[in-house]
Amino acid sequence: MGKTNRQKRHKTSQQSEERTENDASAKPPLRLAVFDLDYTIWQPEMYQLYGEPTLKPIDNKYNKRLSAQVLKEARTTKAGYILTDRRNSPMRVFGGAAVALSEIERLKAAGVDIQAAVASKTDAPSWARICMDHLVIDNDCTTTLISCFDNGHLVEISYGSKRQHLTRLHKKTGIPFEQMAFFDNESGNIRSVSALGVKCFYTPRGMQIQDWNKAKECFELLPAPTNTTTTLDEKESS
Ligand SMILES: [Mg+2]
Repeated sequence: MGKTNRQKRHKTSQQSEERTENDASAKPPLRLAVFDLDYTIWQPEMYQLYGEPTLKPIDNKYNKRLSAQVLKEARTTKAGYILTDRRNSPMRVFGGAAVALSEIERLKAAGVDIQAAVASKTDAPSWARICMDHLVIDNDCTTTLISCFDNGHLVEISYGSKRQHLTRLHKKTGIPFEQMAFFDNESGNIRSVSALGVKCFYTPRGMQIQDWNKAKECFELLPAPTNTTTTLDEKESS
């Protein structure tokens, strides 16, 4: 015998309650990862530079003694060249930033709804732009920082509270604050942005791989259109 309407209504109500409980415990999807620049994505900070960063050959008398690790972090679009200031301090991307941005790029390429953005109060926006145009995150030296941030469309650089930066990114993208992660090496910025409901990650040693892993534990990643069960970890191992 078929179920009565009353039984059907009871079953639907039960399913709805179960769904609500599951939804309450579900992690939000990570759709926008927002990074500070100075001492989160790179070092040194812009205010520590002596003059505009420019491309210099790695075999000159100042750079030829740099370690392989420094040269890797200082990779640029021009083979054999790094960006330095007048005192030959090389601009370097933190390893954790390169890993996080590379993973986001791979997910984007697979069709996952995720993006990366910048929220910065750096003193020298034009120098920061030079760094984003030339510093790269991959061994092929083809993926520039600026390309990771939608070619500059998702770069917010200005004075003021970082809450304003995140609010502008929210308006630009339509992505809810709960679906954003924010990384910054200053605790004041972390406190300020947390108040919006954004999940924040304090990076006092610059962006480390552990910071990125911690963030991934707090979110689910939206599936790629062709694979409804894709997670970031599965993507990494594939
Ligand atoms: Mg900073």
